[in-house]
Amino acid sequence: MFNALVVTKDDTDTTSVKITPLSEDDLPHVDGGVTVAVEYSTVNYKDGLCLSPGGGGLVRNYPHVPGIDFAGTVEASEDPRYKTGDKVVLTGWRVGEAHWGGYAQKARVRGDWLVPLPEGLTTRQAMAVGTAGFTAMLAVMALEDHGLTPDKGEVLVTGAAGGVGSVATAILAHLGYQVAAVTGRPETAAYLKDLGAARIVPRAELAETVKRPLESETWAGCVDAVGGDMLARVLGQMKYGASVAAVGLAGGAKLPTSVVPFLLRGVNLLGIDSVMKPFDGRLKAWERVATDLPMDKLADMVQPAVLSDLPQLGQDILAGKVKGRVVVDVN
Ligand code: NDP
Repeated sequence: MFNALVVTKDDTDTTSVKITPLSEDDLPHVDGGVTVAVEYSTVNYKDGLCLSPGGGGLVRNYPHVPGIDFAGTVEASEDPRYKTGDKVVLTGWRVGEAHWGGYAQKARVRGDWLVPLPEGLTTRQAMAVGTAGFTAMLAVMALEDHGLTPDKGEVLVTGAAGGVGSVATAILAHLGYQVAAVTGRPETAAYLKDLGAARIVPRAELAETVKRPLESETWAGCVDAVGGDMLARVLGQMKYGASVAAVGLAGGAKLPTSVVPFLLRGVNLLGIDSVMKPFDGRLKAWERVATDLPMDKLADMVQPAVLSDLPQLGQDILAGKVKGRVVVDVN
């Protein structure tokens, strides 16, 4: 038997969350599946949605085990690429949403969805990175692919004290970029500066709706975890030919702006998806995480947790109250 955080739904469509003992037979059957003894999981914005009443529109069936990320050791494998004892990481593929996820001491998934634990990372560090950090790396790589170099000027990170923002700030600073970190929590200024931010931009400065389609050219690049009005404003402040990596929607899914920044300044809006990212790109991004994210900075971002903390942490992350990254020890 092992423990899992199981979400159930009753006849009145009310969901409840409880740590529940399960047997291996309870795990979903997966053709060519790999059974993993989970060591650590984490809390991303999406986990908050999956834990919320109604599953945030992401959870298909109940009972459900959330947790979009996990890292652990292969216990049994029908997939020739993995053998007992291998250390593995999983992010994305709708695990924890459409499939049972990592908020359990065991998980069974398709071998295609796993990545071997990158050299130089422990399973705990891999979950300190998690989907949020992996996505921050994808965003930085996309900006580099579109010509961003440290000499081009300041790079903006929005939602900076959150998971994606914290990791993006630390990676960019490590690579020699001048990072301007946008936060609505002034009390996180010292934390963000320790991660490498050169200056703090108060959220209020970018919160107002677009009034002029173009403002002064300020940012050489941007990792945007917020979307909505903030992304709209940022697009009008990008330097000529610069790119914004659109990662998230913590501030809204709408983009209330015009095409003017694209047409008159050649600004690029780069979409970043971590969920369906093909395997080769995943490996590259994890390798870059292992080399370009300083592990002491990663350690500074981490808040430890256990399975019983998750219902509260799910509410906190949706309210924008979680700072940095959470690592959940499921054992
Ligand atoms: P967090 O909650 O950790 O971070 C989000 C941050 O955004 C908050 O900490 C806060 O930063 C800021 N924020 C929250 N609400 C608002 C608001 N109303 N207006 C402006 N800023 C706000 O979440 P994650 O870092 O895990 O995820 C960030 C976003 O990225 C989410 O929307 C998530 O769904 C998305 N995402 C997308 C992925 C992809 O594949 N494209 C993968 C991973 C995440 P501060 O307090 O510093 O202002």
